[in-house]
Amino acid sequence: MKASQFFIATLKEAPADAEVISHKLMMRAGMIKRLGAGIYNYMPMGLRVIRKVEGIIREEMNRAGAVELLMPVVQPAELWQETGRFDKMGPEMMRVKDRHDRDFIIQPTSEEVVTDIARQELRSYKQLPKNFYHIQTKFRDERRPRFGIMRGREFTMKDAYSFDRSPEAAAKSYETMFAAYKRIFDRFGLQYRAVAADTGAIGGDLSHEFQVIAQTGEDAIIYCPTSDYAANIELAEAVAPATPRAEPTAEMVKTLTPGKSTCADVAAFLGLPLTKSLKSLVLATDTLDEQGNPAGSTVWLLLLRGDHEMNEVKVGKVEGLKAGFRFATLAEIDEHFGCKPGYLGPVGLKKPVKIIADRTVAAMSDFCCGANEADYHLTGVNWGRDLPEPDLVADLRNVVEGDPSPDGQGVLAIERGIEVGHVFYLGTKYSKAMNATFLDETGKPALMEMGCYGIGVTRILGAAIEQSHDARGIIWPDAIAPFTVAICPIGYDRSAEVKAAADALHDELLAAGVDVMLDDRGERPGAMFADWELIGVPHRVVLSDRGLKEGQVEYQGRRDEAATKVAAAEVAAFVK
Ligand code: ATP
Ligand code: MG
Ligand code: MG
Ligand code: MG
Repeated sequence: MKASQFFIATLKEAPADAEVISHKLMMRAGMIKRLGAGIYNYMPMGLRVIRKVEGIIREEMNRAGAVELLMPVVQPAELWQETGRFDKMGPEMMRVKDRHDRDFIIQPTSEEVVTDIARQELRSYKQLPKNFYHIQTKFRDERRPRFGIMRGREFTMKDAYSFDRSPEAAAKSYETMFAAYKRIFDRFGLQYRAVAADTGAIGGDLSHEFQVIAQTGEDAIIYCPTSDYAANIELAEAVAPATPRAEPTAEMVKTLTPGKSTCADVAAFLGLPLTKSLKSLVLATDTLDEQGNPAGSTVWLLLLRGDHEMNEVKVGKVEGLKAGFRFATLAEIDEHFGCKPGYLGPVGLKKPVKIIADRTVAAMSDFCCGANEADYHLTGVNWGRDLPEPDLVADLRNVVEGDPSPDGQGVLAIERGIEVGHVFYLGTKYSKAMNATFLDETGKPALMEMGCYGIGVTRILGAAIEQSHDARGIIWPDAIAPFTVAICPIGYDRSAEVKAAADALHDELLAAGVDVMLDDRGERPGAMFADWELIGVPHRVVLSDRGLKEGQVEYQGRRDEAATKVAAAEVAAFVK
């Protein structure tokens, strides 16, 4: 491929709405282009990465015996009514009507449609097991689309569905997929962890998430470095009963002084670990004393982590505290503050201000951290002043680093992850609801045992970049890089020797099946190098008149500090 024939559109600056590095770098590298909230054009450079990700997934799914098909993006509501999910999915599922006023949905996932196929097509035990998958556009009207294509509204998912004749056979299908997922993520060249996970809205009994390890990840993972134990912290309470924390002492209560007490004091008072993931602390009440300080028996303390997304708000209930402090439930808070149910972001938090006077919030902020904040909440703890910087992020799940691992094999460590894959054993949840049966050996109808297996194809790009980048840009693993090698000739437009050598190397690599890009744009070396470093191509070969006279070119790996001189005749072997 030659740069002049391709489309390269790098940017100096990232748009202001890009919060995380992967979003910034993808925008700057010209890989995606925003069309609307959570809706992106996949530009040619980004699409090449997507196609490589899809290619690896497809190969490994096929190798594992799954069969590819393609189910529609727009699906009739009737199927979703059969399982009850038409109502249950709530506002995240996009609904549309056709010209006859009939209801349709834009698929967020495809259990219903695939089960409908299975109940029609898989009639005998002889046809089982079967695993159907597709790589298809999904739409989820996420409450807060963000991080570019990591939490888009429109995105691409690979979703597979297995059908089996017994729970034992289904467990085998699950294991096969689990192993295929390991191969897939190994091939991507990403650092990841498979963790036990919650089954959520999809339902079912057994589930694992594949989490790419990255500090900006929305999920927290607990694991035991000396054993195989690993789980999403969401499961921590279920699988690892919390070691009871100390009850707040009378001294702690006394240390809470309006205008003086810090977030750490409040956390200590409540007997909760205060960690870096807790970035904001909102204390609010509807009862004030004459100075505008909190009074009365109910004080609302909202602990928000991350950047305030509602599903990250952790509100617990602490009983029996002195001074009438207690945690409210989410529902109580929504109701109390008149927020839309399930929403309490920074925007939502401004609404209750109508209910409680502005000065209330200011007083509360003051009470917590001794600081007033314009937007009605504290942007958290002042690290270093309030608390020492923790190395690892814990959570409010009452689980802290060093707690014993539930398997008794050591102590827990905590790290953050990005959910890139999720496998579920579903049992008969969908086959029962949709009456998907097959005839068993005795000729009797039996319900199919199902599993479902998703991979966030487009999210992988963001996750890979979060894990692998530097000050100059993206560092793609070879397997999913848009191009494997960038040939950067200096003076391609001026020197016949350089042009000839660059063209020859390009053709040779191409013939050898290497994904090669020849930058024939005639850019200055600095700008040319900066582009390919930003785009993250893992190998670069620079050709110049001077080097060629000595029979040499310069090779530099994207992570290398400096270039290495390589004999021109050998460079092809070097990058292959
Ligand atoms: P999350 O917890 O991040 O909202 P999920 O648990 O809702 O994800 P699943 O229903 O398990 O997602 O879907 C399978 C995979 O699809 C996820 O593991 C993730 O990689 C990907 N995915 C889910 N939602 C999005 C999204 N909004 N944008 C991009 N990828 C997504
Ligand atoms: Mg979700
Ligand atoms: Mg999830
Ligand atoms: Mg999931």
